[in-house]
Amino acid sequence: TIKEQGGNNYRHFVSGGDQASDDGLELETSLRQALGQKQFQLYYQPQIDIVSGRVLGLEALLRWHHPTQGMIAPNRFIPLAEKTGLIIPIGEWVLREACSQVATQHGLKVAVNLSARQFHQKDLVAMIRRILDETGMPPANLELEITESALIYDVELAIATMEQLNDLGVSVSLDDFGTGYSSLSYLKRFPIDMLKIDKSFIDEVTTDPDSNVIVKTIIVMAHSLGLKVIAEGVETKEQLTMLREHGCDQAQGYLIARPLLCQEALEIAAQTFVVPTS
Ligand code: C2E
Ligand code: MG
Ligand code: MG
Ligand code: MG
Repeated sequence: TIKEQGGNNYRHFVSGGDQASDDGLELETSLRQALGQKQFQLYYQPQIDIVSGRVLGLEALLRWHHPTQGMIAPNRFIPLAEKTGLIIPIGEWVLREACSQVATQHGLKVAVNLSARQFHQKDLVAMIRRILDETGMPPANLELEITESALIYDVELAIATMEQLNDLGVSVSLDDFGTGYSSLSYLKRFPIDMLKIDKSFIDEVTTDPDSNVIVKTIIVMAHSLGLKVIAEGVETKEQLTMLREHGCDQAQGYLIARPLLCQEALEIAAQTFVVPTS
């Protein structure tokens, strides 16, 4: 099967008449109605400073409450939203909702995921500026999370967009870092603020010597390039301890908190996570 990573490759493929694409068709019909019927909701996962345990930000994670299928995870509908272009209005809703829910929480950052197609939409920067104005969200408190797939489609455009975002005061994190194929060259070319080390490395950081070295090296390299590093998918105390010893700046994962409803996330954000000492 073709792995749909984002990007603009879909149009070159015709879907077969198998079970999966029938499901896709049905899903597409209901996805078209989801926004108007207010079926989307944001959950928020805290991101902590790995030394102090203070919550620095919340990552907004989209959930779809399907009328008959119940809650649908983003991995099942974001690729479809990308393919159909529905990601554009959905993505604008996510940005506005996240900014308005977190704007008045002084100092708290909010991280919003952008897929490849969103990142390349013509009026992205103008739209973000408008949303910041409308919601009162300070630009410095908005972080956009993009993956390498959003950068490879049109490198020059991506650089220009990131520079405009920088000028606006919005920061950019590279999500799922380490899973792409030419990560290192991007670090030099793109004005990125933070790397998010992919969960697949964090999973093995205490059990696999190779993953451990990779994580350690990513942190050292990022720091020498002036970037911050956050570990995603931290599930155990041992992982957190190891990451802190390696000098990782921030952490996010089920050990600290699962994605939560806004009110709950804001309550957690006012508390300090007790970072275990080894
Ligand atoms: P991501 O941005 O890499 O988000 C991290 C995913 O890992 C989230 O899954 C989160 O719930 C999950 N996670 C966090 N900590 C742990 C942990 O300790 N263990 C495990 N097993 N999982 C953990 P989720 O919410 O299902 O989102 C999946 C992906 O969907 C996201 O990956 C992101 O790429 C995309 N996504 C989510 N919301 C949006 C959105 O609003 N817009 C766009 N374009 N993409 C979104
Ligand atoms: Mg993310
Ligand atoms: Mg990620
Ligand atoms: Mg991921």
